[in-house]
Amino acid sequence: MKVWFPHEKVRAEQNEFVKDAAEAITKGKIFLAHAPTGLGKTVSSLAPALSYALENNKKVFFLTPKISQHEIVLATARMMNEKFNLGIKAIDLVGRKQMCVDPFTSRTGMGFYEACAKRKKDKTCKYFTNAKGYTPKQKAVSMRLKRGVLQEYNNSYLHIKEQCQHRELCPYEITLEMIKGAHLIIGDYSHLFHEDISEGILGAAQTQLEDIVLIVDEAHNLPERLRDMLETSFDVSALEKAIKEAKNVGDFEVEFLLKDIEKEMLALGKKLSLDKSEARIEAHELDFLRKIARDGIMQMEETAEKFMTKNKTENSYLMALCSFLITLLHEKQHTLYLVQRKGSLGIGVYPMDPSELASEVLSKVHSAILMSGTLLPLQMYSDVLGITESGERKTEKEKTQLLHNQNVKEQFASAKELSQTKKETANPRLLRKEYKSPFPKENRINLFVGGVTTKYTSRSTGQYTQIAEIIDRAVAKVPGNTIVFFPSFDVMQSVKGAMKTRRQILKQEPEMSQDEKTKLIHNFKLLGSRFGGVLLAVSGGSIAEGIDFPGDYLSCAIIIGVPFGKMDITTQALIDFYEKEFHKGWEYAYNGPAITKAMQAAGRVIRTETDRGVIVFVDERFGEERFRQYYPKDFEMKKTNEPEKEIDKFFG
Ligand code: SF4
Repeated sequence: MKVWFPHEKVRAEQNEFVKDAAEAITKGKIFLAHAPTGLGKTVSSLAPALSYALENNKKVFFLTPKISQHEIVLATARMMNEKFNLGIKAIDLVGRKQMCVDPFTSRTGMGFYEACAKRKKDKTCKYFTNAKGYTPKQKAVSMRLKRGVLQEYNNSYLHIKEQCQHRELCPYEITLEMIKGAHLIIGDYSHLFHEDISEGILGAAQTQLEDIVLIVDEAHNLPERLRDMLETSFDVSALEKAIKEAKNVGDFEVEFLLKDIEKEMLALGKKLSLDKSEARIEAHELDFLRKIARDGIMQMEETAEKFMTKNKTENSYLMALCSFLITLLHEKQHTLYLVQRKGSLGIGVYPMDPSELASEVLSKVHSAILMSGTLLPLQMYSDVLGITESGERKTEKEKTQLLHNQNVKEQFASAKELSQTKKETANPRLLRKEYKSPFPKENRINLFVGGVTTKYTSRSTGQYTQIAEIIDRAVAKVPGNTIVFFPSFDVMQSVKGAMKTRRQILKQEPEMSQDEKTKLIHNFKLLGSRFGGVLLAVSGGSIAEGIDFPGDYLSCAIIIGVPFGKMDITTQALIDFYEKEFHKGWEYAYNGPAITKAMQAAGRVIRTETDRGVIVFVDERFGEERFRQYYPKDFEMKKTNEPEKEIDKFFG
């Protein structure tokens, strides 16, 4: 396959990545790549994917966890077009809510989707009606308004939104129309992995998973995002509204059924002591709900529909309860059930295993590249996402994956033969690789300061004072900006109180709006070209991931503490689940995600080949052997108690 690579210069590591990606795509593989910053992951995955897709009538889906990452993908597609005149059509896909131009609906908070659905159904949204054109007269208007805009490929969603606003068209509907003709769809994980959403997207694209070359960027986020998509809950306050709906249409039978549910839920609530906001319940304790679901779901759905018709609404709590009950009936294995108090008393359903959802997509797509600068150990991600052959549990999925692949079909004469050889063969559809950082080693130094910790049981004013002193001493020697990442806002607050630096300190706050964050980053970047400032932020937050600080914007990152997640019932259940599945409960559910967060934060410093910077890891636990497997092979830390001297020498 000829790869249309748009850059003149290709670094050795990048060349290797492009070749591996091209091979994976051609042979229909799933490619898991730990690819550090600087390797040019976007262009190195996109060039072979689009080259293959254009030749073989496939579509490329490039999925990212954040909209801010879409622009570089679009820019790469534009660059390929400019250089090789390939005629690539790319579309920037974001959610309906971000696209909405209706002045009333776009301001709706929680009930946006219901409000939009209602306005569409009632035909009261002129933007929607203009986009669709129901009557012959409207159709003529619609065609006139859409002229030109449907060809606006390779532009950001903001551009499409502006064009549509101007013409009074719904930008989301226009984007859906454009998907059909697009070669490249840049979207969110949910656009393919969320069952309800992917159906609409694939339908609009007039394609199927088998014809998709998938690229998942920042793939270390995928397991958690998939778990989020699977979880569901229902609470008593919503139930009370559902009871009112049944009353509204005079369905007393359903009303009584719902009151029974309420009684049982309140009884379950007794498991919660006053000082706890959640408690684990066993699957059988929800049997009453399953029975009601089996016996009464049809009647409940009919009542919900009657209510919606009578009240001309798309929004029904009773219908939402029906969806919740259906989820319970199609219960996944390895699910955690909680009775919880989040404002109102409720029941939460948390499936632990994202591999089922992942496999539904990954076993069907033509090929996939899952890449990140922090995807170590690769084995962990292939286990967690169910794309490795690691035991009987995956037998059916592996068979599907293997059988899907044409090469494998040829290799194995029959499914019988396949199952016989299953134990001896590695999954031939899976390719895993760790790449080295392409940046000069001498441009970066990793320091490790032990002797202090933010370990919960060791937290004290003394520890915070020592940590503050380390920060003050280090910051004083940095000829520019420093970000200090903390494991939590609480620790940040405690350490900040003891800091004495004279540099200007800016601070991330727990509930910042996008605008506030943008302003904060802008102000911080300005300090880089003056005397240098200090930004206090949290590991795992939006500043630690997804924001670039190239050049003068950042010279040093100090990572305070190992950012472990909260040890709550869900984390404990996840540990138990991975212990049972892989004998790696703590590794997969606790240690791995924490080190990934720390490494993501550390990765903010060196973003380009010419960037120079220092990373200081402050916590004695960073040096423990159990964390070695999460660090890249070429990762070295220099142990010191005087980071300021090393920093001075480095920048000196
Ligand atoms: S149809 Fe489009 S413009 Fe109208 S409310 Fe929904 S998203 Fe907004």
